[in-house]
Amino acid sequence: MAFGWIDGQAESRRRAGLVRTLRPRAAGTPLLDLASNDYLGLTRHPEVVEGAARAARTWGGGSTGSRLVTGTTELHAELERELAGFCGFEAALVFSSGYAANLAAVTALAPHGSLVVSDAGNHASLIDGCRLARGTTQVAAHADPDAVRKALSGHDGPAVAVSDTVFSVDGDAAPLAGLAGACREHGAGLVLDDAHGLGVLGDGGRGAPHAAGLAGADDVVVTVTLSKSLGSQGGAVLGPSRVIDHLVNAARTFIFDTGLAPAAAGAALAALRLLRREPGRAARARAVARELHTRLTAAGLEAVRPDAAVVSVRAPSPEQAVRWAADCRAAGLSVGCFRPPSVPDGIPRLRLTARADLSGAEIERAVRVIGETRP
Ligand code: PMP
Repeated sequence: MAFGWIDGQAESRRRAGLVRTLRPRAAGTPLLDLASNDYLGLTRHPEVVEGAARAARTWGGGSTGSRLVTGTTELHAELERELAGFCGFEAALVFSSGYAANLAAVTALAPHGSLVVSDAGNHASLIDGCRLARGTTQVAAHADPDAVRKALSGHDGPAVAVSDTVFSVDGDAAPLAGLAGACREHGAGLVLDDAHGLGVLGDGGRGAPHAAGLAGADDVVVTVTLSKSLGSQGGAVLGPSRVIDHLVNAARTFIFDTGLAPAAAGAALAALRLLRREPGRAARARAVARELHTRLTAAGLEAVRPDAAVVSVRAPSPEQAVRWAADCRAAGLSVGCFRPPSVPDGIPRLRLTARADLSGAEIERAVRVIGETRP
C-alpha cells in the first residue's frame, strides 16, 4: 500500500507519547490564554481589527499575485517603510510568513562555497533555511560566540552566522554583542531572527538587535514575524538596502510566493503604529514574564528565568507534559506544551507566554492552576 509505512511511524509516535492533534478553538473561549504568541495583546485590539478590515475593503481578500507581479500594494510598501524605520534599519521586505522570511534570508545569503554557522537551538525555519542553502552548514554550540568564532576561522569565502535573538523553547536570549564581535573578526554577516524580540525587547519594543546597538549595521540582517507582538500574520527581513535588493532578486520564497494578504499587512501596520504610540506595552510584557517566573519558582516549579516574554517550565516526561497541559485546560488555563522534536535537548516543557495585558489576578490564577495540576 502506497502510504502503509506511515502506520509504523504513527505507532512509534504513539508509544513515545508524541502524537499531535489539532484542537479547533471556539470563538470567545473563556480560557485564560498563556499559550498564544499575542505578547502585547493586540490581535483583538479594535485598531488592529479595523486595520485589517480597512485593508480588505480597499485591496480585497488577497494580494492577487506574487510580489514582483501584482502582489505589492502601496500598503505593503508603507508597512515596509515603517517597520524598517521603527527597528532602525535602512530597508525591509515583507513576506507571507516569518518562516518564509527566514528561508529567504538564509538561502539568499549562503551561496555555493559559503559557510553558515547555525546555533544549535535555532528555530526550525532557520534550520530549514540552512538545509535549503547552497552553502555548507556548521552547527555551533548554543549561545556560544567562541564556537561561532572557531567555526568561522577555518573558512575562506562568504560566511554568515544565524541565530534566534530569543530562543523559542526556553525564552533565553542570544549573546548578540559576542556574536557580532565574532562575525566582525572574520568579515562574516550576522542573520538574527527577532521573532520573539520585536515588540518585547529594546526601546519601546524595537527589538533585541536595536537593544544591542546592532540596528542599521551594514553587516547585520534581522528577520521578524508579524504574527506575535504585532498580532497579525506574515514576516519581514530588515537590513541594508543592498541586502534587501538582493532578496528581491534572489530569494525564492519572495519571488515565487503570493504577497502577504492585505488584511494581514493592514493589521500589522495598525499594531506597529499602536506600539509606537504606547511603548510601555513592551516593558509590561517583560514585567509579566518576570512575575510569572518569580511566582512559579516560589511555588517550587522548575521555570527558566525569562529574557523576554517566553517562560518555560520543565515537565518530567512527554506524556506527563501533555496531561499537565490538558489538566490546565480543564481548569480554564491554556498553556503550550513542547515535546520532541520541537525541543532540541529532548526535555518536554510547558511553555507559557507572558502577555502585556495579563492582570495580577490572572497571573496569580495561572500559577495556582499550574501548581495544582503539576504531575
Ligand atoms: N522564528 C521563530 C523563532 C519562531 O518562533 C517562529 C514562529 N513560531 C517563526 C520564526 C516563524 O514565524 P511565522 O509563524 O510567522 O511563520
